[in-house]
Amino acid sequence: MEKLNSWTKLNKDDVMAFCDGYIDYLNASKTERLAVTTSEMMAKAAGFKCFCEADTLKPGDKIYFKNRGKNIVLAVIGTDDIENGTAIVAAHIDSPRLDLKPAPIYEDSNMTLFKTHYYGGIKKYQWTAIPLSLIGVVAKKDGSVVEVNIGENEGDPVFTVTDLLPHLAQEQMVKKMSEVFTGEDLNVLIGSIPADCEKDKYKTTILDLLKEKYDFEEDDFASAELEIVPQFKAASVGLDKSMVGSYGQDDRVCGYTALKAILETEAPKKTAICFLADKEEIGSMGNTGMKSRFFENFLAEMILKLKGEYNDLYLRRCLSNSKCLSSDVAAAVDPNYKSVCEPMNSAYFGQGISICKYTGARGKSSTSDANAEFVALVRKILDENNIDWQMCELGRVDLGGGGTVAQYIANLDVDTIDVGVGLLSMHAPYEISSKADVYSAYKAYKAFYEYKK
Ligand code: MN
Ligand code: MN
Repeated sequence: MEKLNSWTKLNKDDVMAFCDGYIDYLNASKTERLAVTTSEMMAKAAGFKCFCEADTLKPGDKIYFKNRGKNIVLAVIGTDDIENGTAIVAAHIDSPRLDLKPAPIYEDSNMTLFKTHYYGGIKKYQWTAIPLSLIGVVAKKDGSVVEVNIGENEGDPVFTVTDLLPHLAQEQMVKKMSEVFTGEDLNVLIGSIPADCEKDKYKTTILDLLKEKYDFEEDDFASAELEIVPQFKAASVGLDKSMVGSYGQDDRVCGYTALKAILETEAPKKTAICFLADKEEIGSMGNTGMKSRFFENFLAEMILKLKGEYNDLYLRRCLSNSKCLSSDVAAAVDPNYKSVCEPMNSAYFGQGISICKYTGARGKSSTSDANAEFVALVRKILDENNIDWQMCELGRVDLGGGGTVAQYIANLDVDTIDVGVGLLSMHAPYEISSKADVYSAYKAYKAFYEYKK
């Protein structure tokens, strides 16, 4: 059955207004740490309290809990016993980027540069010859943490990775795309004025400026998390302003829509949980990623605060009875690259939220293949709430593949399925989404939280 384009049904003003807020969130949240900070601010404004402030919990309570500044979980306590399960929406707030190496700074040919190590799956050529910002933290031995943010504010300088001029690129132009730039070529240009000294003249100028403005030394780079991200701002794309163009929509598009949904959820039946994870782009490893025990630890603490006692069986039953929308982006059909899609099982702009029963590669390797019964329940919830949805796969079988946090949540014995927003130019410094689909995602997560059975 052919489905109508969402734009023919949705209130255009509502969609546009919602996406104005989304664009602001993207601009304020270019790193996982900033996404946590922005999300916490929004949560507080909506009446959420820090988990640590609550000794006991009761239905209707709204709480949030931060994990090492890079991962945040929010919950609205439901009327049903927590042992009967929760409704989880899990998205990730880290995005592909260039991280500074632990010893990053050097000089060459009258210039100063930063060595970087790319984070996540990038096409390296896309990161050259564009303006870049430097955002992150430097943790010092005295226990203080310096926040760095250069490039995002009016009047700030920006940075860039240089590329070769076409006039001298004869050798470069015939190389395979995977070999044109290596990881060691992604060096960021940061200065070119020599200091009045004998050694390391160019480096010294930059180190002096960093000392003056941020009060840290070269050695402190060892305990820093500094990220190079695209400097350009998120914007509406198209004469009809129907799309959003921005860095980091994978997966802050699901992060923002899930966050907005939980902020507006009042007294649900099942406890509603919004989990915004770090480290998805590098395999969800580490204590701020989805594979961490942090999520279970959080649930255990929540159970204790709800029941006044803790027993491991409460946690096990809670997980077994929980349901999760693993919310990550899908690959939308690109008119320039249609050959990578199988048209009957692909996500199209303007057709609603994308449901992937499974992701993975080759023969469904490394994925959670959602149970048919759970897929049926999700279809029912969406249809009952008039929310557009489409089933899709990541692309043609055998062309590649990918995965997300769904498998790690499903491994906890939680019914889990991938649902998210279709993107064009995924993992590029500038990704494109359809505003209609962004709005459908928000509506879908809200309906999931509010489902009463
Ligand atoms: Mn993703
Ligand atoms: Mn990704």
